[in-house]
Amino acid sequence: MKPMERVVILGGGSAGWMAAAMLARMLGPSLVITLVESEQIGTVGVGEAAIPPLQLFNQALGLSEAEFMSATAASIKLGIQFEGWGGAGERYMHAFGQVGKDLGLTPFHHYWLQAGEETERFWDYSLNEQAARAGRVLLPSPPQGKMLGGLVHAYHFDAHRYAQTLRRYSERLGVRRVAGEVVRVPLCPDSGQIQALELADGQRIEGELFIDCSGFAGRLIEQALGSGFEDWGHWLPCDRAWAVPCEGAESIAPYTRSIAREAGWQWQIPLQHRIGNGLVFSSRFQDEQSAKESLLANLPGKPLAEPKLLRFRTGRRRQPWLRNCVALGLASGFLEPLESTSIHLVQSGIMRLLKLFPNHGPMDSLAAEYNRQSQREFEQVRDFLILHYHLNRRDEPLWQHCRSMSLPDSLSHKLVLFAEQGRVLRDSDELFTEVAWVQVMLGQGLRPQQAHPLAAALSPAERRDYLGHLRTIVMGTLQGMPSHRAFLQRYCPQAKE
Ligand SMILES: Cc1cc2nc3c(=O)[nH]c(=O)nc-3n(C[C@H](O)[C@H](O)[C@H](O)COP(=O)(O)OP(=O)(O)OC[C@H]3O[C@@H](n4cnc5c(N)ncnc54)[C@H](O)[C@@H]3O)c2cc1C
Repeated sequence: MKPMERVVILGGGSAGWMAAAMLARMLGPSLVITLVESEQIGTVGVGEAAIPPLQLFNQALGLSEAEFMSATAASIKLGIQFEGWGGAGERYMHAFGQVGKDLGLTPFHHYWLQAGEETERFWDYSLNEQAARAGRVLLPSPPQGKMLGGLVHAYHFDAHRYAQTLRRYSERLGVRRVAGEVVRVPLCPDSGQIQALELADGQRIEGELFIDCSGFAGRLIEQALGSGFEDWGHWLPCDRAWAVPCEGAESIAPYTRSIAREAGWQWQIPLQHRIGNGLVFSSRFQDEQSAKESLLANLPGKPLAEPKLLRFRTGRRRQPWLRNCVALGLASGFLEPLESTSIHLVQSGIMRLLKLFPNHGPMDSLAAEYNRQSQREFEQVRDFLILHYHLNRRDEPLWQHCRSMSLPDSLSHKLVLFAEQGRVLRDSDELFTEVAWVQVMLGQGLRPQQAHPLAAALSPAERRDYLGHLRTIVMGTLQGMPSHRAFLQRYCPQAKE
């Protein structure tokens, strides 16, 4: 069996450079890696909010947190605040990390449910939510908060600067970058595998494995190989977004805002030097012009550019690994940015590829396993996103439609189990934790009919003591934290570009 010698990556967006950096780091000098990108086509230019596992990706690259945050003008993200999803004036947070503390086998939310009216809001037991609302951050967390797992954080960051940082990193490790547009993709007549990428200027780049990071176009996986696309637009109806940066404010919120609007939702992502904004909407329920006006009328600061329109389809590539081509990023499918999962899906696709990395030779069984795992992951994230839309309590036509639409069986089962019994069913390797599901379901008004019987093992007095003790820890931990901006200035002030 010959080892793999040449890998060719098409695309220099976040997905392409993340893949180049990690492959170069892990597979090192044994592999010749070439990345092709077209400056004329450019990148999608959005994607600025992450979830906590990105820390692991950077650690695996040996990129320190302060270095990453400084290079990308990043801020800390402790969760996502959903505003107006449960109806006008309502808001709740999907905060990262724990809420309260489980006792033995019984998740915390059952004790909270047992306590009924006599206790505080569910989120008053979340260190992340309380710190986010107070605008405070300290890493590592003050030691008092250890019992509650400390603050769990992700980032808001400038995705363009991240790609540039990873480009420099990859080039230092020997990745060759070729600028130019791929115009032809010859296939082997026997195996149907990709032989090479042919560029407009006549260059031909050969390889044994091709990684398609060409964005929505899926230049290799779809246009050359015809993988097919499973469309989930009937469950996730948004198919457009306007995006525009605006001036930042003195105080930097350590959370993303997701504000429900007439036919979609608006994001606000605060970085050190500006705020990223966008309106994700459904073209079936709102036209492009009125969506643009709605975004511009609701910016938290002066716009810094012309709004950019993005059109997309929600769904997944049927075979993200087909023959000798693996698609990552937008080329592999897209789930809208409601829970900031796309860059994470790039990361987990790269890690999965590394685990299943082929020799030069037959790779169909590896591809089948890759596709099975990636389908499950996409479906799990899809269900979590649909949950937000389905449990809304708004009146506009899009929202009424989402309340009455039929759901995937996997999600219906989860909802019934929670509504009737307060239990959350999930696979052990699912991205979203039990308490993430609980927060969205409670936050959007689904309160279980009963709690777990084990929660009744605490007498009312013991339960009061326990909940009171947890509140004292949360409040004590907050006392020791500086403001988010003060923390950023000390830890990772943005680097000059
Ligand atoms: C509205 C919106 C909001 C988003 N928000 C978030 C978020 O908050 N968090 C998150 O994690 N993700 C978010 N995403 C997703 C995120 O932007 C992408 O997952 C991420 O940027 C990766 O994009 P990419 O590298 O796959 O594609 P792109 O950035 O589109 O890059 C494609 C690359 O391929 C090259 N290319 C294409 N065709 C050719 C060709 N023929 N020849 C040569 N080169 C070619 C292009 O030049 C470019 O370099 C969002 C996406 C959208 C649409």
